[in-house]
Amino acid sequence: MKWFLRGAIGLVVLLVLTGVAFKVFQARIGATVFERMAGRLVGVDQADALDDGLHVYFCGTGSPLPDPERAGPCLGVLAGKTALIFDTGSGSLRKLMRMGFPVGETDMVFLTHLHSDHIDGLGEMMLQAWIGGSRTTPVMISGPEGTGEVVDGFVSAYRIDAGYRTAHHGDAVANPSGFGARVNEISLPESGAIEVFSEGGVRVQAFLVNHEPVAPAFGYRIDYKGRSITISGDTVQSEAVRDAAKGSDLLIHEALNRDMVAVMSEAAARNGNPELSKVFSDILDYHTSPSEAAETAQAAGVEALVLTHIVPPLPTPMLYPAFLDGAGKKFDGKIQVGEDGMMISLPADSDRMIRRNLLN
Ligand SMILES: [Zn+2]
Ligand SMILES: [Zn+2]
Repeated sequence: MKWFLRGAIGLVVLLVLTGVAFKVFQARIGATVFERMAGRLVGVDQADALDDGLHVYFCGTGSPLPDPERAGPCLGVLAGKTALIFDTGSGSLRKLMRMGFPVGETDMVFLTHLHSDHIDGLGEMMLQAWIGGSRTTPVMISGPEGTGEVVDGFVSAYRIDAGYRTAHHGDAVANPSGFGARVNEISLPESGAIEVFSEGGVRVQAFLVNHEPVAPAFGYRIDYKGRSITISGDTVQSEAVRDAAKGSDLLIHEALNRDMVAVMSEAAARNGNPELSKVFSDILDYHTSPSEAAETAQAAGVEALVLTHIVPPLPTPMLYPAFLDGAGKKFDGKIQVGEDGMMISLPADSDRMIRRNLLN
């Protein structure tokens, strides 16, 4: 028994000494770890290490509703060396930058529609593209009619800050000629998809979806070296999405669970907030349920479906089965509830699909 007692006392003493040593050297240990991390990450083009292909960065899988886990709607798409951003919701730019997306190299920002949750981060995006890329010509922003008015507002709101940046960092970093954005307003035919971008082997097509009374509202399809993704934008279940997604590998579709939102509407009414209750019941009619998105994915024949623009907020994956509500039965492929930080890579000229999370 003595040896056991001696061993136990020795262990306690060792633990105490280790704890004391850690406390004493905590600042130095922290500084060393920080220095190593900075050397590995700061100023390094993390996208440079990626294989040729189509890489999708889920920078915002949320909606207008506050969600501790999800930023407002945003997708980054890297196709070869071409960097595209689709929508810039609140908080999404910070996630995109943390994921190592080359924001400074952005070739085009596409907006699906002008609902605030899709444009909240536009000012931040323009600023980061300008400074991060030391641009001498402004970033391009494409979107539906009205995009010019929205961009003008952001440019005006950021003009004072832009002056500070140039004064502080100089023309080599913050050249005034690169501030702001050039706008391309797209008008689309009633049906069918038309090409809105073609560069570096990347082809982007846009098509109209139904998000009434918000009109026009767009979905997009991106093709690069035999790989393809389709983005629904905000829409009710749509044949336009189905048609555009035919032959795509991946469909990224918005999703709202009507039963869960109805529960929120009833709770708001019971808790004496009829206005909030009305907002929740109003949004039921211009989105797509997980099951409907799964039906569209099945009809389009895509390999995989990722749900995004998740309504209501799902603070824990334990809620995913209730949210999906049997959607898996409607689609033979893999369904995933989108999470911020997810990246899906489609290597060029292959049928592989690589999934990882860059923020976990
Ligand atoms: Zn939205
Ligand atoms: Zn919307």
